Amino acid sequence: MNAGLMDSLDKITVCELCGRPAKIDRTAPIAIRFKCDVCGEFSATVEAVRAFQQNWEIRVYVSAATRQASARRKPITLGIDNYLALAEEHRWTSVQAKARKILEYLRDKSESFGQKVPLSNDIDYPLFDAVSPGECWDLMSTLKERNHIVQPFKADTKQWSLAMDGWDILEPLQAGGIPGLFWRRTPGLCRRAAKALQ
Ligand SMILES: [Zn+2]
Repeated sequence: MNAGLMDSLDKITVCELCGRPAKIDRTAPIAIRFKCDVCGEFSATVEAVRAFQQNWEIRVYVSAATRQASARRKPITLGIDNYLALAEEHRWTSVQAKARKILEYLRDKSESFGQKVPLSNDIDYPLFDAVSPGECWDLMSTLKERNHIVQPFKADTKQWSLAMDGWDILEPLQAGGIPGLFWRRTPGLCRRAAKALQ
């Protein structure tokens, strides 16, 4: 590793992926550790960081990969050999799939109908493969217009709930069946119920 590269890394005070202030630990043995509100917790080798610096447009897709992995509590280590493949997994997400990810996020954070869930387009956009806070806001606004999500307090744009129309999209009631929520939340019980019905 050349001294010039190390010098440039020492000056970093912001996240290499999103440019926001982040906690950075350069003492880890193999890769630099980052803790960023937007990109989550992840590590990156010096070579990978240098690659980001030369490939600005790829960063938002890598950020989607790191944030989503961090949310799953499986933070990833970005290296020169994996960062492009990870980015590609989040680069071509359709608009509909992005919108669905927002609905699924609210569902997964809801213990009951109408629960208010913290959701900020500024911070959370990588969770949905949105390329910017602006795209995330446009998606959220459209979902709100369609009554799929609700903003419980007019002045608070960082609290949202999944509306019934949103639940219907994710977990439609099936004639004679059991709602998806029931199956999802209580798999053991459902297995027993399914067996009893056989
Ligand atoms: Zn970041």
